[in-house]
Amino acid sequence: MKIFIAKYRGACLGIQEYAFEPIQRLTELKKRFPWLHFFCYPPAHNRNVVRMAEMAGISLVKSIADIPPEFDGQAMYIQSAHGGSSSNRSLAGQRGIIFGDMTCPLVVRNHRLIASYIKRGDDRLAVVIGHAGHQEMIGCLEPEAISSLQQRQIILLDPRSKPMLSGEDIRRVRSAAEVVVVTQTTLAKSETEEAVAFLKPLLPKRFIDGIGRCGATTSRQEALIDLIDRCGVDTVLVVGDIQFFKSSNTTRLVEIAQQRGVKTRCTIDTDSVDPSWFVDTKILGITAGASVLPKDFDAVIELVQSLTSGELVQHEFSATTEQMSTKARDAEFERIEFELEQRVLAHSKK
Ligand code: SF4
Repeated sequence: MKIFIAKYRGACLGIQEYAFEPIQRLTELKKRFPWLHFFCYPPAHNRNVVRMAEMAGISLVKSIADIPPEFDGQAMYIQSAHGGSSSNRSLAGQRGIIFGDMTCPLVVRNHRLIASYIKRGDDRLAVVIGHAGHQEMIGCLEPEAISSLQQRQIILLDPRSKPMLSGEDIRRVRSAAEVVVVTQTTLAKSETEEAVAFLKPLLPKRFIDGIGRCGATTSRQEALIDLIDRCGVDTVLVVGDIQFFKSSNTTRLVEIAQQRGVKTRCTIDTDSVDPSWFVDTKILGITAGASVLPKDFDAVIELVQSLTSGELVQHEFSATTEQMSTKARDAEFERIEFELEQRVLAHSKK
C-alpha cells in the first residue's frame, strides 16, 4: 500500500498564530496577572484545541453575555480566529472586561471590505456567501464601524438554502446601484461557484468581486482534489473535527473526497482510527483540516503507517501559498499587555 500525504494540509497560519500561540501566551499572562480570569469562544473548531485551552485555564463561553457578572473588571475575553459580532468589543468595555481580538487577518479583511463598501452609500449592498450561523458569518453581518441601519445593506446568501435568496433579497440585489460579493473564507470552491452562478444574473452592472476564500482553504482543497484525480487514491483519511465542533474546512475536505467517489474516513486523532478502514486500500491519501494540532496529525500518520506498513510517498503539487502578516496579532498582544499593566497600576493605587 502507498500512503500519499497531501502537500497542503493541517494547521493554517491563521490558526497557528491566532489560536495555538495565543493560548500559550495567555498561560504566560496568567502567571503575571493571577487575579485575571480568561474566557474565550472555542479558539478553533477542534475538540483537542479546546481541551488545550481549558488546560491552560481558559473558560469557554459562547459570548461575553455568558461571563458571570462577578468577573466584571477582572476578566479578559478572547475573540477567536473566526471573529465575531462587532458588539463584543463594546459589551466588554461596558463591563470592564479586556477584549482580546484574535480574529485572523484574512477574516478581518472581509469585514473591512464589507464595512468600507457599505459606508460609500445607502444604495449599495454587500452579499456575503456563507453558512448561516457560522461564527465568521456573524462578524461579516455585523462588521465594526457601521450602524445597525447600515447592517441592513448586508445580505447573507447561504448556498445550502433552497432558494438561496428570498424574493425580497433578489429584488434588492437587482435594484442596488452597486454590489460587493464576499465569501466565507472556508467555503468549498464548488459551493462558491454554485452560489456565484445563481447570483451573477441578478447583479447590477456595477459589482465588485471580493471573493474571500483564503489561500489555506483553497490550497488544502486543491491538493486533495489533485491527490484523488492524479495520484489514483482510492481511500482518503481526513484528520479533523467534524464530530464535536464541526470544523467547516474539515467538512469541506470530507465532502470533496465523497463527491469524487472514493472511500472517505474522518478522525479527530488516533483514538478513533479503525484498522478495518484500510482493508483493500491500495493507495491512501491523508489530509487534515486547518484547525488540527500538528502533533495529532503526525500521530495519525505514524499509527496508520504502523497498522498498514504502507510506503510514504511525497505528494508533489503547487498551489496557492499562504502569506500572512503577523503584525496585527503582535500589536494586539502589546495592547492587551498595556491594558493589563494599567489595570494592575489602578488596583495597587486603591
Ligand atoms: S482558514 Fe484561512 S481565514 Fe481561517 S484562520 Fe486559517 S488562514 Fe485564517
